Amino acid sequence: MASITIDDVTKRFGDGDESVVAVDDVSLDIEDGEFVVFVGPSGSGKSTLMRIVAGLETQSEGDVEIGDAIVNQLGPRARDIAMVFQNYALYPNMTVEENMSFGLKMSTDMSADAIEQTVTSTAEMMDIGELLDNTPGELSGGQQQRVALGRAIVRDPNVFLMDEPLSNLDAKLRAEMRTEINRLQNDLDVTTLYVTHDQTEAMTMGDRLVVLNYGELQQVGTPLECFYRPANQFVAGFLGSPSMNFFEGHVEGGTLRADGFDFDLTERMQSSVEGRSNLVLGARPEDITLHDEPTSGHEFEAVVDVVEPMGSISYVYLRAAQQDDDKTFIVETDGQRLISEGAEVYVEIPDEDVHLFDAA
Ligand code: ADP
Repeated sequence: MASITIDDVTKRFGDGDESVVAVDDVSLDIEDGEFVVFVGPSGSGKSTLMRIVAGLETQSEGDVEIGDAIVNQLGPRARDIAMVFQNYALYPNMTVEENMSFGLKMSTDMSADAIEQTVTSTAEMMDIGELLDNTPGELSGGQQQRVALGRAIVRDPNVFLMDEPLSNLDAKLRAEMRTEINRLQNDLDVTTLYVTHDQTEAMTMGDRLVVLNYGELQQVGTPLECFYRPANQFVAGFLGSPSMNFFEGHVEGGTLRADGFDFDLTERMQSSVEGRSNLVLGARPEDITLHDEPTSGHEFEAVVDVVEPMGSISYVYLRAAQQDDDKTFIVETDGQRLISEGAEVYVEIPDEDVHLFDAA
């Protein structure tokens, strides 16, 4: 069990003009027992940051502490961590039992009996007790991933590091394993860092998210904080599916003049944007309401472009009435509501669901 401190860590690959800053001056405190998810698009530096914590990559600048010790000079073995990868990295010629016990035989002075007991009880906990004599090739992807997790658990490490462990599984298994990893992490209470590019995994797992883009920390917070109070337009657009709608505009008096419509800013919004003129208004598809007639007088007019029925909900693609280009925005409506393509509607975005960002 251990806390982790990442202190002003930067990682550069290559020299001079060719160099890439994979991790850009990141600082982060992770508590003992915490489940932290590194999330961001491909190439945002998530794996590099995790590999630096693991000791598989050396940072160009900064310190990593595990427990109370700076571990910059320690190799991966000495850091007492266990890693789980997406490709499982199981030994194909060994049985499940041998795969799970291999690390213990190599790195501890546990007796053969104690190792067997630990492996058997962990395999039972992971629901792979029946498979101990099989080789990985005889197992499904989900079972192989359980073996990889079981192998990490028997090591009883200070820290679990998991790099996209579910990305090779189909959607149904992925959802099951998400729940399972959440439950395991809760039961074992081991500090866990989990890397994913999948915002659903990020939202449903983990005590805190660390959102990265271009190697830079964008926001650190609980999934709900990051979702409801995104620190910037990147975080707002990254979390949530379908993505938040963005409308660029400039402020004139109490109005945001966007492309195709004017939007009345409430007092709250005006005070939050004081002194700024170029803004982006963000609204999630599920927060926008469509009316057949004007109601409050604060709506703007739009025309329905396409309706995509999904069952219980529909996604309605719209274009603001006065807009000159083809850009659409998306609204989630009740699936039973009939909306025809080409219809003119009135769009309402409630005050509390309006997000305002500085234009990039
Ligand atoms: P992520 O895990 O978010 O997909 P990575 O940490 O793998 O991102 O990569 C971050 C950036 O660092 C990318 O631009 C990637 O190309 C670069 N990078 C990663 N590893 C190396 C390496 N060994 N050599 C050169 N560049 C690398």
